[in-house]
Amino acid sequence: MADQPERQALDEVVEFTSDLIRIDTTNRGGGDCQERPAGEYAAARLAEAGLEPNLLERTKGRTNVVARIEGTDPSADALLVHGHLDVVPAEARDWSVHPFSGEIRDGVVWGRGAVDMKNMDAMILAVVRDWARQGVRPRRDLVIAFTADEEASAEDGSGFLADEHPALFEGCTEGISESGAFTFHDGSGRELYPIAAGERGTAWLKLTARGRAGHGSKVNRENAVTRLAAAITRIGEHEWPLRLTPTVRAALTELAALYGIETGLADADALLDKLGPAAALVEATVRNSVNPTMLDAGYKINVIPGEAVAYVDGRFLAGAEGEFRTTLDRLTGPDVEWEFQHREVALQAPVNSATYAGMRAAVEEFAPEGHVVPYCMSGGTDAKQFSRLGITGYGFTPLKLPEGFDYQALFHGVDERVPVEALHFGVRVLDRFLRTA
Ligand SMILES: [Zn+2]
Repeated sequence: MADQPERQALDEVVEFTSDLIRIDTTNRGGGDCQERPAGEYAAARLAEAGLEPNLLERTKGRTNVVARIEGTDPSADALLVHGHLDVVPAEARDWSVHPFSGEIRDGVVWGRGAVDMKNMDAMILAVVRDWARQGVRPRRDLVIAFTADEEASAEDGSGFLADEHPALFEGCTEGISESGAFTFHDGSGRELYPIAAGERGTAWLKLTARGRAGHGSKVNRENAVTRLAAAITRIGEHEWPLRLTPTVRAALTELAALYGIETGLADADALLDKLGPAAALVEATVRNSVNPTMLDAGYKINVIPGEAVAYVDGRFLAGAEGEFRTTLDRLTGPDVEWEFQHREVALQAPVNSATYAGMRAAVEEFAPEGHVVPYCMSGGTDAKQFSRLGITGYGFTPLKLPEGFDYQALFHGVDERVPVEALHFGVRVLDRFLRTA
């Protein structure tokens, strides 16, 4: 039994990434998506490795796949390894290659899902199949889950699995999934590998201003549009105070040490200023945020409507939701109501856990020049829904990326792509971590 994946696993990860990209699983929201062909593809690859995948649907065609690999230590907690099967839409005319071609050109796999996150789905499949060929068994039970609907509400995906099929996740205490352990080039030659150990919560809000409808030529001090505009301006211009969660504190402390910066956490804004490009890993997660995104009011220029509506994208840090709510009450004022259109919890994962240490060690083994740092995601993933089962989520999709490869911009971006070498690195690191986790 080799202690590394064999050549076939490295070939398969590329083949599977490309194949999965060619299966168009565009999620347009509102239930407009079919993950079933991708779910069947993943299930077939697992079955070939001797596993017994369950295909689960809340809605026809919205397929989730769950399988369990029995570990060697029955007393150990199980680990969830999950990836979503759906992708966001792509406009072919904007792309250099067709977004659903899965084309491999000059050592790079192109297409929607190449980084978000059919790459990880393929890495999971390649590792599990390599183990079946080599007779490898992990210490912990692993629960492998491929989900539907992550790019919309997750109601047909991880939310459905967590609420309706908790038994499949029996014993799982931790999980790993997207957005972590990729190469972040800091512009001065250093390579950072941020591992996600937390997520901000999601607060998508609907604001409704009410007033007195009437003729546009008359005096009206109860104009709903004016009231809404005033509230939206207050919200958009609000300066949220610094709120450092344990993960963000750990990130800032490690980055300050790495760069030899003496500024303490008490002056985190000054510290961020001194971090240079690496500040991008932290700056969106040192405070809550609210961005107005949609407005809807009126139907004729000389008619004052009785109601005006706006939508804002809010995000709150772990431990800061109460402050978020009271601040919104104050900023909207007495004439504007606000409500959650969609709310999901903030997550916080420890960076002093054995699991975090294992992820860190696996990255450092294959990228000895890299510096692993924790970070908090500004947005959210399926880990939010799985947290309902008491599962602590980490973002760990290892990829070694060349300088100039703007990974973050490729999420939901044009010309999404992933280097073959990055996938090979990912398989090696994931294999090492999962064997020893
Ligand atoms: Zn994703």
